[in-house]
Amino acid sequence: MNSNNLEDLKNRILDLEHLLNESRKEVAAIKKHNSTVGEIGNKYGRLTVVSLSSIKKSRKYFNCSCDCGKNVIVEMSQLRMGRTRSCGCLRAINARNTIETNRTAKRREKGIGEFYV
Ligand SMILES: [Zn+2]
Repeated sequence: MNSNNLEDLKNRILDLEHLLNESRKEVAAIKKHNSTVGEIGNKYGRLTVVSLSSIKKSRKYFNCSCDCGKNVIVEMSQLRMGRTRSCGCLRAINARNTIETNRTAKRREKGIGEFYV
Protein backbone atom coordinates (compact mmCIF):
# COMPACT_ATOMS: atom_id res chain seq x y z
CA MET A 1 0.00 0.00 0.00
CA ASN A 2 1.49 3.32 -1.01
CA SER A 3 1.04 6.57 0.84
CA ASN A 4 -1.45 7.88 -1.73
CA ASN A 5 -3.82 5.04 -0.99
CA LEU A 6 -3.41 5.65 2.69
CA GLU A 7 -4.29 9.33 2.27
CA ASP A 8 -7.29 8.27 0.23
CA LEU A 9 -8.44 5.92 2.92
CA LYS A 10 -8.00 8.55 5.60
CA ASN A 11 -10.08 11.00 3.59
CA ARG A 12 -12.78 8.44 3.04
CA ILE A 13 -12.91 7.68 6.73
CA LEU A 14 -13.19 11.39 7.49
CA ASP A 15 -15.99 11.65 4.95
CA LEU A 16 -17.78 8.71 6.52
CA GLU A 17 -17.35 10.17 9.99
CA HIS A 18 -18.78 13.41 8.74
CA LEU A 19 -21.75 11.59 7.22
CA LEU A 20 -22.28 9.66 10.43
CA ASN A 21 -22.29 12.87 12.45
CA GLU A 22 -24.73 14.46 10.06
CA SER A 23 -27.15 11.56 10.27
CA ARG A 24 -26.82 11.52 14.05
CA LYS A 25 -27.76 15.19 14.05
CA GLU A 26 -30.70 14.41 11.79
CA VAL A 27 -31.90 11.62 14.09
CA ALA A 28 -31.61 13.93 17.09
CA ALA A 29 -33.58 16.61 15.25
CA ILE A 30 -36.28 14.11 14.31
CA LYS A 31 -36.49 12.85 17.89
CA LYS A 32 -36.73 16.42 19.13
CA HIS A 33 -39.41 17.17 16.58
CA ASN A 34 -41.40 14.06 17.52
CA SER A 35 -41.23 14.82 21.22
CA THR A 36 -42.56 18.27 20.42
CA VAL A 37 -45.34 17.09 18.13
CA GLY A 38 -46.21 14.34 20.62
CA GLU A 39 -47.07 16.97 23.22
CA ILE A 40 -49.64 18.66 21.05
CA GLY A 41 -53.14 17.79 22.20
CA ASN A 42 -51.91 16.63 25.61
CA LYS A 43 -53.80 17.89 28.59
CA TYR A 44 -52.21 19.06 31.82
CA GLY A 45 -54.77 20.08 34.39
CA ARG A 46 -56.94 22.65 32.67
CA LEU A 47 -54.36 23.34 29.93
CA THR A 48 -54.36 21.75 26.49
CA VAL A 49 -51.14 21.94 24.47
CA VAL A 50 -51.95 23.66 21.17
CA SER A 51 -48.64 24.30 19.43
CA LEU A 52 -44.96 24.97 19.98
CA SER A 53 -44.36 28.63 20.68
CA SER A 54 -40.57 28.81 20.85
CA ILE A 55 -37.44 27.06 22.04
CA LYS A 56 -35.11 29.15 24.18
CA LYS A 57 -31.92 27.70 25.64
CA SER A 58 -33.29 24.21 24.83
CA ARG A 59 -36.43 24.95 26.86
CA LYS A 60 -39.64 24.44 24.96
CA TYR A 61 -42.47 26.86 25.32
CA PHE A 62 -45.91 25.78 24.21
CA ASN A 63 -49.05 27.71 23.38
CA CYS A 64 -51.70 26.24 25.63
CA SER A 65 -55.38 26.88 25.83
CA CYS A 66 -57.02 26.85 29.22
CA ASP A 67 -60.48 25.41 29.93
CA CYS A 68 -61.61 28.94 30.77
CA GLY A 69 -60.79 30.03 27.20
CA LYS A 70 -57.56 31.94 27.85
CA ASN A 71 -54.39 31.21 25.89
CA VAL A 72 -51.08 31.10 27.69
CA ILE A 73 -47.47 30.21 26.89
CA VAL A 74 -46.03 27.65 29.28
CA GLU A 75 -42.64 25.97 29.47
CA MET A 76 -42.82 22.21 28.95
CA SER A 77 -41.12 21.13 32.17
CA GLN A 78 -43.55 23.28 34.16
CA LEU A 79 -46.39 21.31 32.59
CA ARG A 80 -44.72 17.92 33.00
CA MET A 81 -43.93 18.54 36.65
CA GLY A 82 -47.47 19.71 37.21
CA ARG A 83 -46.35 23.14 38.35
CA THR A 84 -48.57 24.89 35.85
CA ARG A 85 -52.04 23.47 35.46
CA SER A 86 -54.01 26.49 34.37
CA CYS A 87 -53.66 30.00 32.98
CA GLY A 88 -53.87 31.23 36.55
CA CYS A 89 -57.62 30.88 36.86
CA LEU A 90 -57.26 27.69 38.91
CA ARG A 91 -55.35 29.59 41.57
CA ALA A 92 -57.96 32.34 41.43
CA ILE A 93 -60.76 29.80 41.88
CA ASN A 94 -58.94 28.15 44.76
CA ALA A 95 -58.35 31.52 46.39
CA ARG A 96 -62.00 32.42 45.93
CA ASN A 97 -63.04 29.10 47.45
CA THR A 98 -60.81 29.74 50.45
CA ILE A 99 -62.29 33.19 50.94
CA GLU A 100 -65.78 31.77 50.49
CA THR A 101 -65.08 29.06 53.06
CA ASN A 102 -63.80 31.62 55.57
CA ARG A 103 -66.83 33.82 55.03
CA THR A 104 -69.17 30.86 55.39
CA ALA A 105 -67.44 29.84 58.58
CA LYS A 106 -67.85 33.34 60.00
CA ARG A 107 -71.52 33.44 59.03
CA ARG A 108 -72.02 30.08 60.61
CA GLU A 109 -70.37 31.29 63.81
CA LYS A 110 -72.75 34.21 63.94
CA GLY A 111 -75.62 32.04 62.82
CA ILE A 112 -76.76 34.51 60.18
CA GLY A 113 -77.69 34.33 56.54
CA GLU A 114 -77.58 31.46 54.14
CA PHE A 115 -74.50 29.45 53.77
CA TYR A 116 -73.26 26.73 51.51
CA VAL A 117 -71.83 23.52 52.79
ZN1 LIG B 1 -57.90 29.50 32.83
